[in-house]
Amino acid sequence: MPSLRDAAVDLLLGGSCLGCGEPGRLVCRPCHDALPTLATPHWPSPPPPGLVTPYAVAAYDGLPRALVLGHKEHRLLALTPVLGRLLACSVAAAVAEMGGPGPVLLVPVPSRPATVRARGHDPMLATAKAAGAVLGRRADVVPLLRSRPGVVDQAGLDAGHRRANLSGSMAVRARPLRALARRGRRVQVVVCDDVLTTGSTALEAQRALGAVGIDVLAVAVVAATARRVGGVPVHGDYSGFGVPPSPRTH
Ligand SMILES: [Zn+2]
Repeated sequence: MPSLRDAAVDLLLGGSCLGCGEPGRLVCRPCHDALPTLATPHWPSPPPPGLVTPYAVAAYDGLPRALVLGHKEHRLLALTPVLGRLLACSVAAAVAEMGGPGPVLLVPVPSRPATVRARGHDPMLATAKAAGAVLGRRADVVPLLRSRPGVVDQAGLDAGHRRANLSGSMAVRARPLRALARRGRRVQVVVCDDVLTTGSTALEAQRALGAVGIDVLAVAVVAATARRVGGVPVHGDYSGFGVPPSPRTH
């Protein structure tokens, strides 16, 4: 249930652009058009051993950071499609570089159930669905992963403690796994998250999927805190996904 406080925050923040403060929409047209569309590999430093290549379209600062926090912490649900388009750029670049033709499965990193209850929505699932809608029929979103209890909030933990905190913290849901198996088609699995920090969360998602025999093609995130390492920017133009090339069109 959205609280009165959330509604008040919506009203307060809803009257101006998160990027430039211009009164009006949450993201004004110039700020929206200035959002990045080129996704690149972003490796955390140090890179978690065994992690598949993570792709990010934005650095975690400025407007992208405000979008993620506004969506996650303040339930600014009008931001879902904006974040979905950013994530779609990362997914499209990851598949273009690492994958091939054929269906793509977006698997969002699970939020902790207590977090979903407290916030009244699952921001990562919503963002993944919005990305899937942008990418079209070739992409599907399946929340295959769930959190196991006992994980503490990651904020303030360093890479080693994050990995220890997260190890074994995710599991694959039986029912969607069975549904996936019944389809009988090979899919290219892309793990999706909003922010890549140390890579521990993405690695745990990859481990949990690998434990049931699902290979992960790549990780796609909206924004990464690490600086870009290697790789030529790949235009996440969704080519091959059968949708219009410009993420700026509505
Ligand atoms: Zn603006």
